Parts: sequence; C-alpha cells; structure tokens
Amino acid sequence: MATNTAELEALLMQRSLTDPELVAAAEAAEDFRILPDATVIKVGGQSVIDRGRAAVYPLVDEIVQARKDHKLLIGTGAGTRARHLYSIAAGLRLPAGVLSQLGASVANQNAIMLGQLMAQHGISAVDSAGLSAVPLYLAEVNAVVFSGMPPYGLWMRPALEGVIPPYRTDAGCFLVAEQFGCKAMIYVKDENGLYTANPKTAKSATFIPKISVAEMKAKGLQDSILEFPVLDLLASARYVHQVQIINGLVPGNLTRALAGEHVGTIITAK
Ligand code: ADP
Ligand code: MG
Repeated sequence: MATNTAELEALLMQRSLTDPELVAAAEAAEDFRILPDATVIKVGGQSVIDRGRAAVYPLVDEIVQARKDHKLLIGTGAGTRARHLYSIAAGLRLPAGVLSQLGASVANQNAIMLGQLMAQHGISAVDSAGLSAVPLYLAEVNAVVFSGMPPYGLWMRPALEGVIPPYRTDAGCFLVAEQFGCKAMIYVKDENGLYTANPKTAKSATFIPKISVAEMKAKGLQDSILEFPVLDLLASARYVHQVQIINGLVPGNLTRALAGEHVGTIITAK
C-alpha cells in the first residue's frame, strides 16, 4: 500500500500513534539505508579486550588492514570491569538505569583504548554524541571506533527481573547497524561461534554454523552467546537480516568474514 504524505498526515492527526492502519502507512515508504556500505564490528569486552595485548594487537592489525577495503564501524563491549561494577551496584540495590550508566563508562574506556591503538592510522574514537560525525570519519579514513553501550542511561528499560540492564553492547552495536542500514553486523568474540551449550563449561557442546532466531529459541539458546534482546531486534529488523559471530582470537577470521565468507556462526532473522 503506497500512502502519500497528506494521507499519512491525516492519519497522524486523528489516530493513536500505534493505530494499525497508521503504523502500516508510516511503513509504506521505500527503504533508505543511511550507510549501506559500512559494516559494524563489535569487539567483545570480556571475550577480547579483557585478554589484553595477546588478543587485541593482532586484531587491531587486522582491522587496520581491512579498512583499506571495507568501511568499518567498530563498537566496543564492556566486559569484566562492567560485571564487577554490576555486582557492587546490584548489591547496593541501585536500579538498571544506574547500572546502564556504569556499563557505558566501561565500554567508553574500551573505545578510548582501541582509539589510541589505531590513532597512528588516523582512526579515532567518537563519544556517543560524536556518532553524528561518523559519516565524515568513514568518508575520510574508512573506520571509526564507538562505545557499544546504547546510551539509554537512566532510561534503560528494565528487565522483568533483576537490575542487570538487558540492552548492553551486543544490542547497542546491532541497533547502530540496523538504524544506519549497514551491510553487515559481525560480533568478534572468543569462541568459533554458537554451540549447543556454552563450550567453556560443556565439553561435549557441538558447533552450529547457521541457525535462525526461531531455531535458537527452540533449542533454549536465546540467552547464550548474544544478549537475548538482540534476537528479537534481529527478527523484526528492516535492514540487517543476519549477524555473524566469529572467533577474533584466530587471525584472518575477521578478514574472511568481511570478504563474505561463512566463518563462525550466522544467525538469521528467519
Ligand atoms: P562479549 O565479551 O562480546 O560480551 P560474552 O563473553 O558476553 O562476549 O559472550 C561470549 C561468551 O558466551 C563465550 O565466551 C561463551 O563462553 C559464552 N557462551 C554461552 N553460551 C554459549 C553457546 N551456546 N555458544 C557459544 N558461546 C556461549
Ligand atoms: Mg557480553
């Protein structure tokens, strides 16, 4: 159904903003991707950055090389320092919105460090307000580092139970990819991808190269290698219809994934 602006405006003036006809009319416009040639890479906090030099230096080299051929938005995870902060703050009975700010400060620290490591190549870290400058950085040097935590801060939507913020850096990076209509979303972590169970604790776990959101939920894997809200964000996304999870501790994996190779696990929306 093609709706013109006047019809849409009439609906918007008369109806509730969640009225089904209005929602459908507001969806009718053709797709428009803001950054269709860019790929978002999330560099894991706990899984990569917390391992320090041994994991980070080779990955930085690979990113610097890759950006000659690819436009890269490099988001950071938070990791162990955030988990430590969450444990203290939860013990103090502080709410999800406060924990969200604490997590963001750690993802920021990681963005600052990655930015400094890539500075000599002209790659900068932007703070969350700086996302408006992302197109300029991409145009000039093909890459930019950002803090992966979504800036909900105090307005974080709390989980049904507990005070751990449900939308953390996996979700933040996915939302950047989807809002900008990016080409791909790659999670760089420390396992080859998704397994039937956590490979760190279940030695018999087997590798899953490709799976859909619905299959993941059916297998009870919705809260495993990615933060669980990412699956629903992926299922309802307009532009990003799959995400790839790769092992960033294996040199060459990122380059292969960027070249479109099926390394790691691909999770599809449908
Ligand atoms: P990040 O540092 O990017 O936030 P996480 O440490 O939160 O990464 O998530 C990756 C971890 O998820 C892996 O190191 C692994 O131990 C764990 N994990 C839990 N369940 C699974 C699973 N079914 N398959 C693979 N990894 C899993
Ligand atoms: Mg995580």
